[in-house]
Amino acid sequence: MSLKQKNALVTGSTSGIGLAIARALAAEGVNVMLNGLGDAEANAALAEEVARDHGVKALHSPADMSKPEEIETMMRQAIDRLGSVDILVNNAGIQHVAPIEDFPIEKWNQIIAINLTSAFHTIRLAVPGMKARGWGRIINTASAHSLVASPYKAAYVSAKHGIAGLTKTVALETAQAGITVNCISPGYVWTPLVEQQIPDTMKARGLTKEQVIEDVLLKAQPTKQFVTVEQVGAIAVFLCSDAASQMTGANLTVDGGWTAA
Ligand code: NAD
Repeated sequence: MSLKQKNALVTGSTSGIGLAIARALAAEGVNVMLNGLGDAEANAALAEEVARDHGVKALHSPADMSKPEEIETMMRQAIDRLGSVDILVNNAGIQHVAPIEDFPIEKWNQIIAINLTSAFHTIRLAVPGMKARGWGRIINTASAHSLVASPYKAAYVSAKHGIAGLTKTVALETAQAGITVNCISPGYVWTPLVEQQIPDTMKARGLTKEQVIEDVLLKAQPTKQFVTVEQVGAIAVFLCSDAASQMTGANLTVDGGWTAA
């Protein structure tokens, strides 16, 4: 079945992995609602660019994924303006690196809200329409940190383990409704999120930038290469295909062998 005319909402898609997933879906003819923070004009221009490049409808919602009422508004707008949410990609995420005894409480709350609780809200709001249409794809961007831990990332690792559990639970609840629910778990992908955690990791571990890249980031990744955003986008498209219709509740690693070790 072609994905043309399907409608997708991709949270945290004005940058990095989310944008690559949105672009990959748009390339298959899927209309997309982008979401993400930042400059309103730049985000509107980005939506126009995606629409123009792929001949699809593309919109942007500025909803803050830490605010349940803004998530509700975004979901309503996606359904009103696109007609449905057939494909839901929960991708928005942030990081904070600090030892547990110094971990700022507001950072803990923010990471749990954005990286985990937002997916609870989007999923609970998207599932009724998917059930009614008998087709749906829910893809959660988890992380290698949904399977293994690293020091100084208490909130992130907790949220990512949480989203892996949420994925499995909703997969069981929707298994007979034509809906699949899976997570993609990348290792280190070169995006602004990774670049921005380098200074804090340098501080927390007393290392230079080069040492963080070589000895902390790529140390975990046996291939010694970063994953690309396009590779993650291609997996999301595959999960939407007929070939993947019996895959549900899975956690797909794309981590250069990190979690095999
Ligand atoms: P990124 O910083 O490039 O993009 C994050 C996106 O989320 C941006 O569009 C940003 O505007 C949006 N965002 C942030 N806070 C938001 C909020 N409160 N409300 C709405 N949108 C918000 O990051 P990325 O590396 O592309 O990460 C995307 C996802 O992939 C995250 O869930 C991250 O945990 C996960 N991930 C990333 C890597 C990696 O190495 N980059 C590895 C594994 C998992």
